[in-house]
Amino acid sequence: MEHSYSDVLACGGQLAMGEELPFCPEAEASLRCLMRGNAQYLERSHNPTELTDHIRLTTAHEGQHPYAAVLCCADSRVPPEHIFSAGIGDLFVIRNAGNVMSPTALGSLEYAAAHLHVSLILIMAHRGCGAVVAALQKHPEHGALGELIAEVRVGVGHAHDPRQAERNNLLHSLEALGESEVLRDLADRGKLAFAGAVYDIRSGAVELLLPEGSAE
Ligand SMILES: [Zn+2]
Repeated sequence: MEHSYSDVLACGGQLAMGEELPFCPEAEASLRCLMRGNAQYLERSHNPTELTDHIRLTTAHEGQHPYAAVLCCADSRVPPEHIFSAGIGDLFVIRNAGNVMSPTALGSLEYAAAHLHVSLILIMAHRGCGAVVAALQKHPEHGALGELIAEVRVGVGHAHDPRQAERNNLLHSLEALGESEVLRDLADRGKLAFAGAVYDIRSGAVELLLPEGSAE
């Protein structure tokens, strides 16, 4: 990878908070851990994490200390624990169709950052997202699903190409993080950082978000 993880975090911070944030070494370590897990997933095609009584009992007694919070799509092909070779207690995960930054998603991320002290929030879109396709198509959905797709449509903006639409929707969710004073305060004190990514449901690879115009 040509770009450093600090570039990814600088990009995420700029998108989320609209300003240059102090460097957060813990977030860089968390991002490194996630991407090492993704590399393992690509090599082995299975999750090497042990799901044992010992881990369940330890986390039950001592509490949870996840190293990152992840907001991603509810799509059944996008399981974050497998993608990042993570186990019980490792990731604080929020999922909904289209990785929408709803008030409940944002509140959950505030909980992860303020109370569980995660140093990294990763927003992960994915290729072939049905929610984004539904937002691009103009036929109406009803009920709560209609409201959800309307939210994704705002994120998609004027894009017509599905890849651009997925990227726009991802950027929109990242930008919505800036509405949180809780997250902004932690980020301004160098205790929290942000990153965006797109997961490829065919290859299994996670591509981190870099400033537009950067070499891929
Ligand atoms: Zn999706």
